[in-house]
Amino acid sequence: MDKSILRKEIRARKKACPQEQLATESVQIMQKLAAHPDFQRAEIVMLYASLPDEVQTLEFIAEWRNRKRIILPTVVGDDIIPVELTAGSGMVEGDFHILEPENNPYEGPIDLIVVPGMAFDRQGHRLGRGKGYYDRFLIKYPDVKTIGICFSFQLLDEVPAEPHDQVIDEIISL
Ligand code: ADP
Ligand code: MG
Repeated sequence: MDKSILRKEIRARKKACPQEQLATESVQIMQKLAAHPDFQRAEIVMLYASLPDEVQTLEFIAEWRNRKRIILPTVVGDDIIPVELTAGSGMVEGDFHILEPENNPYEGPIDLIVVPGMAFDRQGHRLGRGKGYYDRFLIKYPDVKTIGICFSFQLLDEVPAEPHDQVIDEIISL
């Protein structure tokens, strides 16, 4: 299956799914993440600030930002630059309307990276939005545990992967 056809199919599935269902699934998925031993153990967690059509993370981030160190992606040109959401840092809308913390690039260790995606399969193959941002980012963190999170209709039997596609360690869905 062609990646671009699959992206179209997933976009159609997202559109067909009522907003309330996306919200309900998001809460359940984030509860599963919170209960995951790797999340519980992690002191420094990279999350992502969700767009309306992604597993919703904003409340989760608000809930956890005082209990763990939270790192969020910022988009700078072709790269994801990690930035820490410190107690004082505000959030501003960056490229692609993503909310980004106002802070310097974070260069320290990360214990767990939570990855969004258009689609995943159980083998950890991931389809992104088509620009390869996470492939270029994750290659820099080969030893960090990665967990992909997605709605039930985004977890497929098989996602096409190319050699540059970074494999995600584990997927959490419904
Ligand atoms: P996505 O992961 O967002 O679904 P793709 O996997 O289709 O997107 O990748 C999109 C493009 O990103 C690829 O065609 C490739 O040119 C580029 N890309 C991905 N990873 C790398 C990399 N490590 N180095 C250089 N270019 C890359
Ligand atoms: Mg890719």
